[in-house]
Amino acid sequence: MANQSTATRPMRLQTLITSQSLALLGDAAVLFAWMTAAVLCDRGSGLAGAHRAWANVFSLVAGPVGWTLHLAPRLWEWIKSLRNTEPDSAGYERTAHGIMAAALERGASDIHIEAKEGGYAVRFRQVGLLREHMKVHRRAGEMLVSVFKVFAELNTAEKNQLQDGRFRWTDPKSGHVLDVRVSTSPALSGEKMALRLLNRPASLLNLNKIGLGPAACEAIRRHLRQPEGLVLVAGPTGSGKTSTSYALLQEVSVPSVNTVTIEDPVEYALPNATQIGINPKMGVTFESSLRTVLRQDPNIIFVGEMRDPESFKIGVRAAMSGHLVISTMHARDTVGALTTLRNLGIDPQVLGAAVRLLISQRLVRELCPACRVWSPPDQDTVEFFSHPSCRVALPDRVASPSPTGCAKCEQGFVGRVGVFEIMRIDSRIRTWVVNGGAEDELRQSLAAGGFVDLRSDTCEKLAAGQIWIDDAVRALGMHEG
Ligand SMILES: [Zn+2]
Repeated sequence: MANQSTATRPMRLQTLITSQSLALLGDAAVLFAWMTAAVLCDRGSGLAGAHRAWANVFSLVAGPVGWTLHLAPRLWEWIKSLRNTEPDSAGYERTAHGIMAAALERGASDIHIEAKEGGYAVRFRQVGLLREHMKVHRRAGEMLVSVFKVFAELNTAEKNQLQDGRFRWTDPKSGHVLDVRVSTSPALSGEKMALRLLNRPASLLNLNKIGLGPAACEAIRRHLRQPEGLVLVAGPTGSGKTSTSYALLQEVSVPSVNTVTIEDPVEYALPNATQIGINPKMGVTFESSLRTVLRQDPNIIFVGEMRDPESFKIGVRAAMSGHLVISTMHARDTVGALTTLRNLGIDPQVLGAAVRLLISQRLVRELCPACRVWSPPDQDTVEFFSHPSCRVALPDRVASPSPTGCAKCEQGFVGRVGVFEIMRIDSRIRTWVVNGGAEDELRQSLAAGGFVDLRSDTCEKLAAGQIWIDDAVRALGMHEG
């Protein structure tokens, strides 16, 4: 604050001198006009009639000009004082803390600050959708970007380079500490800043909130009661695997068990757990962390992602020696995940015994129940439901987003919901793993047993008007699977 007042003082002084000199000039003009009027207009001054008339006109003009010069600077100062309602830098800092608190409260994963329509927009990514939190005028937007740059120890003067940094933010209300990754990029309209919020409270996630039906929730809970085995969540990048894993962890991580998570980066804060962020540059990899963690008597281990065969092998070994191992992997669906696992060179007998549960999923936008539009199924919907693995009847009507949306949604959508398939590894699947049958053979056998696959779950959500056919096709493809 001290620095700020000394920085602004010389400028104010300068302004004052300018207005004072202008006012003096104005006073002089008024005085001069009066003197001319008094002296020149006097009949005794000896001026001829015509000249006296000109002197009259001059004094009439010089008077108002003088008064204008006298008053204008004061008027300008007054107008400036009215316009100058911007908060000081402490005010912007308060706004920045307010934005962080609101983002935490709403469970936002990212904050975007960018120039938009003459000002700046602050938007939150909540359940996958960007929603506007507030709009500020241009100057305030630039100041907010600067405040966050200071938080992350970035160069505030540099506006034309990409910058990356991070800071920790503690919520004054709950004491929760967020890990914030900041990146800025120059854009044509002004600087754009994105803040990624990590270490969010895992309490935001639970099985009932991620789009699983009651029966699926119950099946998962039943399987998690057994304290060992490998539980894998499979899907492509961005399919919500981490959120689902945390919903699973929330079910099992209690103070009486030792839970360890190994992630890149730590996305959610889990009470009662030891959380390790991997750092390959420092030699802290998934594999090395997993080896170390196993020596520390854990009950439950969550590994952010299993990529290399070595991680899978250690994971399987841990699952076979009394640990519950939860992890994610890249695979199209549960059958595809089993095939990947089988091709790793792990003993099929061991693999069949270690894997307990496989979950595969996609994230699809959820339609706003308040404004969705119902209509008879179109050609795409008919085709989607006619897929051989779909076990849901074509409904009379399906829903699509309202083109305008309403006050309760963002262009017709309220967030994202998962579509799932949940595979419990039973003796039939174990036999398939051990004997090495074809994928189609397993799929047919599963379908005959009433297995709800990704497509069927998607069709159920389409029939319920919860999701839109365009998103379903985007997530699963028209004919795949
Ligand atoms: Zn709506």
